[in-house]
Amino acid sequence: MNRNHPKFVNPWPNAELDHRSSAFFRWQWQRLRNGVPRTPPASSFPVARHAIAFPRAATSECRLTWIGHASFLLQLGGLNILLDPIFSRRASPFKRIGPARIVPAPLQIAELPPIDAVLISHDHYDHLDEPSVREIQERFGANAKWVTPLGYADWFGKRGINALVELDWWQTAQLSPLKITATPAQHWTRRGRRAQERLWCSFMIETQGFKAFFGADSGYCPAFREIGERFGGCDVAMLPIGAYEPRWFMRTAHMNPEEAVQTFLDLKADIMVPMHWGTFRLTDEDMLEPPQRARDAWQAAGLPASALRLLQHGETLVLGA
Ligand code: ZN
Ligand code: ZN
Repeated sequence: MNRNHPKFVNPWPNAELDHRSSAFFRWQWQRLRNGVPRTPPASSFPVARHAIAFPRAATSECRLTWIGHASFLLQLGGLNILLDPIFSRRASPFKRIGPARIVPAPLQIAELPPIDAVLISHDHYDHLDEPSVREIQERFGANAKWVTPLGYADWFGKRGINALVELDWWQTAQLSPLKITATPAQHWTRRGRRAQERLWCSFMIETQGFKAFFGADSGYCPAFREIGERFGGCDVAMLPIGAYEPRWFMRTAHMNPEEAVQTFLDLKADIMVPMHWGTFRLTDEDMLEPPQRARDAWQAAGLPASALRLLQHGETLVLGA
């Protein structure tokens, strides 16, 4: 549907990242010349003790534990689902270079309850982390089903993972009692030399009485209004608020906090849980700015303070499902 063989594209105007290396070097040059704000100390990001239900949460509950960045343990419908899990110290193909965690992972794979499914939104290193994938596979084997957008069977197959469902946008996988739909996002993919050959997506995870939306990585785009309409809103939306500066380069691929609040409104969601901030330094904004701007935008939109749930690393949000 958005396949422009053999590459995937975003089906909206002005939606593509400038993939030319000149744009990347212009960004790097600006960084060198202007510098970036200092990275705050780890103590600026408090870590909470989780309240994960072992081995599973009641079907009347939704428990959402933030593992940092875009990683969550979602306990819904009596199942345990990992979203874009990264437990590694670096979001990088290399052990010694690449963005390192400012806050250590608040829990380890060995501490997780039994995992029923793992959802991967796209192939960037901060979302598809090979050491985490291998360790999850080692610990949970075929009990953990993997759900990805189109184009990932090869990569997972090479790592011995065949229990994989690939979804195009708007396609649904049944994982009784859950329904998992790959929904659109405005983003891009590249891993090694494979650019735009794998699809990217967000996810709607539904049980009979509850809908959780996972925003993955996305620029602000018209898809969110459509998702809001097709699903008739949702109970909770995990939305990215970080990795947005400089805007001239990042705008198409990453929403800023104000756009995240607009996305929340477009989705007709009840509660917003911000993510994709405060874990790895990927871009040029001050790392403490995203939550502050999210709060300000929230207030400016006249939304109830209790519906914006900024979690600490490791914190669990418990909702009735
Ligand atoms: Zn990404
Ligand atoms: Zn990302």
